[in-house]
Amino acid sequence: MDTAAHQASLLGNYAAPAVAFERGQGSRITDVEGRDYLDFSTGIAVTCIGHSHPKWIARIREQAAKLVHCTNLYAIPEQARLADRIVAKAGPGRMFFCNSGTEANEALVKLARLHGRRKADGAEGRIAKIVSAEGDFHGRTYGSMSATHGEKIRNGFAPLCPGFAFAKFNDLDSFAAAIDDETAAVLIEPIQGENGIRETSDDFLRGLRKLCDERDVLLMLDEVQTGMGRTGSFFAYERSGIKADAIALAKGLGGGFPIGATWVREESAPLFTPGSHGATFGGNPLACAAAHAVLDVIEDEALVASTAARGAALKVRLEQLVEKHHRHLREARGRGFLLALVTHDTLPPADLVKALLEAGLVTVPAGGNAARLLPPLNVTDEEIDEALGILDVTLTNLP
Ligand SMILES: *Cc1c(COP(=O)(O)O)cnc(C)c1O
Repeated sequence: MDTAAHQASLLGNYAAPAVAFERGQGSRITDVEGRDYLDFSTGIAVTCIGHSHPKWIARIREQAAKLVHCTNLYAIPEQARLADRIVAKAGPGRMFFCNSGTEANEALVKLARLHGRRKADGAEGRIAKIVSAEGDFHGRTYGSMSATHGEKIRNGFAPLCPGFAFAKFNDLDSFAAAIDDETAAVLIEPIQGENGIRETSDDFLRGLRKLCDERDVLLMLDEVQTGMGRTGSFFAYERSGIKADAIALAKGLGGGFPIGATWVREESAPLFTPGSHGATFGGNPLACAAAHAVLDVIEDEALVASTAARGAALKVRLEQLVEKHHRHLREARGRGFLLALVTHDTLPPADLVKALLEAGLVTVPAGGNAARLLPPLNVTDEEIDEALGILDVTLTNLP
């Protein structure tokens, strides 16, 4: 269909789309012309329990009939219970709820500034710097964008916020050099998503934790894409054995309903006082109901453990695919169901994603020549076989 013709009244901030989707069920999604696809994009790691899970629908329906919205000036029991559930996974701390990943990171930026002011005995702005990694993506609003390295994201929007700096990805010496007397916090992705599924090493994370402790700098992790069990542990940092000072969460949290969250470790939680932050819609009853349903399904169906095992098995098969199609593919990357096929320069990842779409498999391009495979955590083994079949045939038929 000519989707572009239907977009005349939309800002041109997204590239012209190839298809329009109308309905989804589990791992499948159907376009307006009635064609079925396997959805290995999950709306970029969002619909983590698949489309239209019956428990998710029932919970939203029930809550919508009861109470959709209530201001945070009054207690929201669903929100408090959701906080308890995430704290049980992240460790002793406190939660703030918002509506997106970039907002969850904005709360981290504010936390960093408050921590810096405490370090500077109340002097504002002196210790304020936030160090992120080159290649990180933290969002599109001003604070998160200022912590984002890519020219493609920043270009045209100067002046950005002051007090941000960058060190080399996965390079402890570079971080040690970038963290100085004016540094309040480090904000990084444990695995870079938009930049093509690049993992920090366990040694790097452990070294960074030690460095931050020595210099009284907060270690803040952006788990917006990697969280919610996507990598085979509830948070991606868990594999390294470290603890974070603060975590941003969003994408998969609501299973498609917009909700973001910021977890702050108990020691730093008192930095936020009444009036210091807020969000009208943040953590409203309906959004929290959606997140409860997602957590229920993840727990009831033991999806974190199964994602670890089945993701590892899928990666082995992707590596076999790389071997077979070495003409087009360079490597398979990632862990759990946060995976990517990396192409040679002769095959732009967008071309691979387009060919796969035409063959009935929805994937997502990323930086660094990567095509991301992000199936729902409850994808069936048969659907994985089917996706691998489509990948094999498509790669065989590419010129
Ligand atoms: C998607 C993403 C964001 C931004 O989330 P939005 O909901 O689009 O604001 C931030 N950080 C990471 C790591 C992401 O993948």
